[in-house]
Amino acid sequence: MSNKIQSIRGMNDLLPENSPLWQFVEGVMRSTLKEYGYQEIRMPIVEKTELFKRSIGEVTDIVEKEMYTFEDRNGDSLTLRPEGTAGCVRAVIENSLLRGQAQRLWYMGPMFRHERPQRGRYRQFHQMGVEVFGLEGPDVDAELIAISARIWQQLGIDSVTLQVNSLGSAHSRERYRNILVEYFKGHQDKLDKDSLRRLESNPLRILDSKNPEMQSVIEQAPVLEDSLDEEDLLHFEQLKTTLDSMNIGYEVNPRLVRGLDYYGRTVFEWVTDLLGAQGTICAGGRYDGLVEQIGGKATTAVGFAIGLERLVELMREQSLSFGEEKPHAYLVLAGEQATSVGLGVAEMIRSAVPGLRLITNLGGGSFKTQFKRADRSGARLALVIGDDEAASGMVTIKDLHGKSEQQTVSVDDVANILSRYN
Ligand code: ATP
Ligand code: MG
Repeated sequence: MSNKIQSIRGMNDLLPENSPLWQFVEGVMRSTLKEYGYQEIRMPIVEKTELFKRSIGEVTDIVEKEMYTFEDRNGDSLTLRPEGTAGCVRAVIENSLLRGQAQRLWYMGPMFRHERPQRGRYRQFHQMGVEVFGLEGPDVDAELIAISARIWQQLGIDSVTLQVNSLGSAHSRERYRNILVEYFKGHQDKLDKDSLRRLESNPLRILDSKNPEMQSVIEQAPVLEDSLDEEDLLHFEQLKTTLDSMNIGYEVNPRLVRGLDYYGRTVFEWVTDLLGAQGTICAGGRYDGLVEQIGGKATTAVGFAIGLERLVELMREQSLSFGEEKPHAYLVLAGEQATSVGLGVAEMIRSAVPGLRLITNLGGGSFKTQFKRADRSGARLALVIGDDEAASGMVTIKDLHGKSEQQTVSVDDVANILSRYN
């Protein structure tokens, strides 16, 4: 039997050597969101297929070709969530969280899209998403951008720039849609197959095409801003003024549209040029119509999602360091008696010194082997119990970085000494 079972293409294991960096990044996001008063919500990973079709839009890359959809044993069509907003909206409606109050929510977890795996693009990837319901903005839009900016700052990331745009209200988008269709119809020979199809179904998406041969026809297309009505323009102006007052720099990108149908008014992306083609680490915007579209009472909403794989990769690209936590101590247990009393001593020390990171040697081994393991663990101290110590109720403490003399103390005193290192 030599056929090894392998993981699914584009779905990766997160190995122990990488988990400290992930935990650090996740921890920064959690604490920042807590500081701003946002609450966590956890939704199922599988939802009814219908939910994504209705919210993301039938004529989008995600729904047309990227979803993991299957029938369960009851014959219901289910889909692994490709993003979190749809499920979050469903959850707040279903649990009546929108009755007369705003909600500031966040979630974190795996998302699934059947894309071509490459750097920064996977089939299982992770997002941290933030969604705010019931506040019309643009102050909320600005706060969300400030939260993302603070997360970059806490992580030490300084290689990202902010792009903003306004997609206007549904009414202005309709007007713009007609202008755009008119324009692209005049340049049909320059459109690829996907874009020709989109011309009728979803012409704004043509602007989001990554096809290099289409960039010039896209660049010359009429811009949405000229179709915005007065209220849209005011909303966008206020957002920009607020960003200015918060000292957050931005570029207005009139061609920034999003790959999902539910966005209107504010859209934004944080991009970097250190990650190659997949340079967007965070994307978001307003989706005022979505709650009603999914069957709730009309409620304004805005949110964003950070792609964690890209963010972690950017941390590596920038060689950012973070407080990796090595163990404080490694307990060496040599001799038969030592092994049997050792685990009891370890538990006693743990109870006496909360937060202490203590590795107990398991599986025996000579003094020499165990000290090697202690060194490799990165621990600052070795606690040694040999047969002598076991017999006399003592523990020897040895500084593995060689800064202080080794000392042998009673088990009761060990806890006192260790609490100084913690
Ligand atoms: P892209 O244009 O790169 O395909 P998108 O518009 O499909 O992105 P969103 O749905 O807005 O992306 O998701 C928000 C963020 O999630 C992206 O900016 C990116 O950081 C991350 N992301 C999206 N798809 C993937 C993927 N397949 N693998 C890794 N990260 C992803
Ligand atoms: Mg995509």
